[in-house]
Amino acid sequence: MDQANILIIGGGVIGCAIARAVSQRWQDVFLVERFPKLGMATSTRNSGVNHAGLYYPKNSLKAKLCVEGNRMTYEFCAKHNVSFRHTGKLVVATNAHEEVELAALKKRAEDNGVDGLRLIGPAEIRAIEPHVRGTAALHVPSTGIVSAEELVHAYARLATSQGASIVTHAQVVSLEPAGGMIRVGLRIGDEEDSQDETIEARCVINSAGLYADEVAGLLGNHSWKIYPVRGEYCEIRGPRSTLINNLVYPLPHTDGLSLGVHFTKTLWGSVLVGPTASYVEGKDNYEKNRLPIAEFAHSAKTLLPEIEESDLQLGYSGLRPKLVPPSGSGIADFVITRDPAVPHAIHLVGMESPGLTAAPAIAEHVSKMVAEILG
Ligand SMILES: Cc1cc2nc3c(=O)[nH]c(=O)nc-3n(C[C@H](O)[C@H](O)[C@H](O)COP(=O)(O)OP(=O)(O)OC[C@H]3O[C@@H](n4cnc5c(N)ncnc54)[C@H](O)[C@@H]3O)c2cc1C
Repeated sequence: MDQANILIIGGGVIGCAIARAVSQRWQDVFLVERFPKLGMATSTRNSGVNHAGLYYPKNSLKAKLCVEGNRMTYEFCAKHNVSFRHTGKLVVATNAHEEVELAALKKRAEDNGVDGLRLIGPAEIRAIEPHVRGTAALHVPSTGIVSAEELVHAYARLATSQGASIVTHAQVVSLEPAGGMIRVGLRIGDEEDSQDETIEARCVINSAGLYADEVAGLLGNHSWKIYPVRGEYCEIRGPRSTLINNLVYPLPHTDGLSLGVHFTKTLWGSVLVGPTASYVEGKDNYEKNRLPIAEFAHSAKTLLPEIEESDLQLGYSGLRPKLVPPSGSGIADFVITRDPAVPHAIHLVGMESPGLTAAPAIAEHVSKMVAEILG
């Protein structure tokens, strides 16, 4: 039976960033991913925005790790040849009531340590985004975009170069405490042709994204339930993509479900419109009952009156691992905690946005927890 110091469950951006961080310090690090390739779940089905840290309650993990992660992500991308653009973004108000909310958002963001924020008027909005209509906007210089796919693979490549073993097509199917170790049951390969293997690990890190609640359940911990909330995109391609230069957001939804349908100029020159937010049944339900394009056009017209339904094509979708049930409201914080009954297991649950941005800061945070376990 193989033995590991650290076994990481899940090869999304967070698992890969953790593998890179912990393999700098410890040997015998394994990362296992159930899909044949890394980053195929939420980590490459998002907006690819390197968020500034505007929206999250003061002193929350989301606020702290996003602000730190934003800086770390830019540094990492520049150093390791990951494509990115440091664009800045506008959060746009369209009436007096929203202008009050905008001022409150600025205050919250400053409390979180976000620098360089400025309230601007219609003339400056037009100078930055000539086609966007608004009465005022918050200019956020630290926001930008990154290639999520390249980021996942760069973290994984560095982890491997530091000696970590990354095994894809390997699903964790059981977890069993055994003395000071955790016995990890793996199903390797696909359904028709699989074999079972076991690894014993001194520390297990559960970064299984949408399935982190079920993986915690394998250890008998049923503290969490993840509700998938689908975010759908449309895309503007070709000449009409010049309607947007950088990133343009409305005020966030007050229900805490999403940041509202926004515009993201991608690294490949198109504009993403979305994501929407709706609870769905099923953790792989990306396509069933997709929203009609007309609904995107309708929402998008508030900030971008020139947009027409014919400018839009249906794009991809992603699933947010929400901890707040459909009947609830508000923002749940990231959960990053040692298991109370099996303290050499660390669970990361509810790792929704800004998880892509925060990944390197999350990895440092988890690395400190691992040091408490392994010494
Ligand atoms: C629509 C949308 C837009 C977003 N936009 C942004 C944004 O612009 N900026 C930002 O910072 N964040 C954004 N996010 C959030 C960000 O994408 C996530 O926080 C981040 O990708 C989470 O990474 P992860 O590694 O935890 O999850 P995942 O990418 O889901 O990775 C978890 C992995 O675990 C694997 N796994 C699950 N169970 C097992 C098992 N039993 N055994 C082995 N492997 C297993 C899965 O296959 C998966 O690959 C967005 C999210 C969505 C849905």
